[in-house]
Amino acid sequence: MVRFSGKSVYKGITIGSVVLLDKAGCQVKRGKAEDKDAETARVRAAIEQAKEQLGSLYDKALKEVGEASAAIFEVHQMMLEDEDYLESIDNIIRTENVNAEYAVAITGDNFAEMFAGMDDDYMRARAADVKDISNRLVNNLYGHEEIDFHAMEPSIIVADDLTPSETVQMDKEKILAFVTVHGSTNSHTAILARMMNIPALVGVPVELDRIQNGMTAVVDGFSAEVIFEPTEEVCVKTQERIREEKEKNLLLEDMKGRETVTQGGREVKLYANIGSVSDVGYVLENDAAGIGLFRSEFLYLGRSDFPAEEEQFQAYRQVVQTMAGKKVIIRTLDIGADKQADYFNLGKEDNPALGYRAIRICLKQPDVFKTQLRALLRASVYGNLSIMYPMIISADEVRKIHCIVKEVQQELEEQEIPYTLPEQGIMIETPAAVMVSDDLAELVDFFSIGTNDLTQYTLAIDRQNERLDDFYNPHHKAVLKMIRMVVDNAHKHGKWAGICGELGADIDLTEEFVRMGVDELSVSPSMVLRLRKRIREIAF
Ligand code: PEP
Ligand code: MG
Repeated sequence: MVRFSGKSVYKGITIGSVVLLDKAGCQVKRGKAEDKDAETARVRAAIEQAKEQLGSLYDKALKEVGEASAAIFEVHQMMLEDEDYLESIDNIIRTENVNAEYAVAITGDNFAEMFAGMDDDYMRARAADVKDISNRLVNNLYGHEEIDFHAMEPSIIVADDLTPSETVQMDKEKILAFVTVHGSTNSHTAILARMMNIPALVGVPVELDRIQNGMTAVVDGFSAEVIFEPTEEVCVKTQERIREEKEKNLLLEDMKGRETVTQGGREVKLYANIGSVSDVGYVLENDAAGIGLFRSEFLYLGRSDFPAEEEQFQAYRQVVQTMAGKKVIIRTLDIGADKQADYFNLGKEDNPALGYRAIRICLKQPDVFKTQLRALLRASVYGNLSIMYPMIISADEVRKIHCIVKEVQQELEEQEIPYTLPEQGIMIETPAAVMVSDDLAELVDFFSIGTNDLTQYTLAIDRQNERLDDFYNPHHKAVLKMIRMVVDNAHKHGKWAGICGELGADIDLTEEFVRMGVDELSVSPSMVLRLRKRIREIAF
């Protein structure tokens, strides 16, 4: 039995078998080729293996999601036959006298860069594909097993680190817990774990080479511990605690169907945050009154090309229809920083959190923005949809957004495509937006305070930096003063203000938020009933 402590992201407890995502070993190392012919032969074998893998993926996708989505695997198979690509790998092995893994990785980077620099949109998007096939070859060369999440039994995922795009691709039904060596408690991966309602630990100093697939582990989000190969006694105790937790959660069931009002009769709108269409089930299960934040950028992650207008329209329509008249606030694309999609070709930045992200990308690339807006305006016909814009810093940006929305309306009218213009609000997540919130309130229908980024930018602390977790304090007086100021400015102009950052679910602050006049709280679905219980206890 081995025990490791880390930082808990979500309090829960589970026991199960481990699946190791060994990506750390995937850092490609440059080595000397002892036998160049043998290295070239290894590449050929890795390509054959990759073609077989892609063939199976194609067959599976064809059955499960249809031909259009499966086609990408055929494209990848064809790319593996591209003569220039193969010649480049051979050349690098022969001229630089290096190992196959290194030659493939360098070729992948070079080709991706070349595609990224092309004028044609279609060709530019192929940069992500060439990286994808190169990663597959490198994994095959290293002999890493590919994990089939669909075929996997529900398991505990152990990894060096997880990006949001990796997390979002996982089949949620198959994951019992996350344990990562790195990662901050404020990252989007942590937020996704909370949304999935599963215990998750980050910053756990596990030596990954001592962990094997199939090992049993206990993940305890209460004590922030993971225990590999627990004793019989620990297993029995864990099962008992799992039962107790289930019973406690059952008590919360009593909160379903009740109003979210304080003892004094003050109502708070209690909504839930989601990242995908399938999360709507959790929202309904936990009886949230609406969706206060749909992080639409997750639709853009874990894929090799932009989601088309039609695909987005179907997703948004499905969410608003399933919510049947309850409010659904969809945030426009907040890509960038930790949420990376290769086909956006955002490039490397020294300070990505202060960089080219969210509304900045949308204003610079109006075609991408307009595609999403068209889908949103069309979906709005089917229910109670609102749009929310992220990372706003000025009134000027809001005016520019409104001009683009007008253009989209005109285009839809000319094409006689039905749409309605939804309520439009902004996220307040930069100190600049707080300071000009008086002006901004005149231009929008509502504010939703993104305390995750607002804390990051107010305290000058990178929310991704795990070494700063102890300094990242959303209870800081400066953050709370800002929230109060934003609520006051919204109310001054007759607008409502809510909180959709993680702080909204902080039970220790609920009473303070209610007293400040916060109108809405949008939290992980798993927190809705706990929060309702708390609000109903408040005397105010
Ligand atoms: C926030 O910043 O508080 C927020 C809700 O947005 P995200 O966490 O996706 O950046
Ligand atoms: Mg944010």
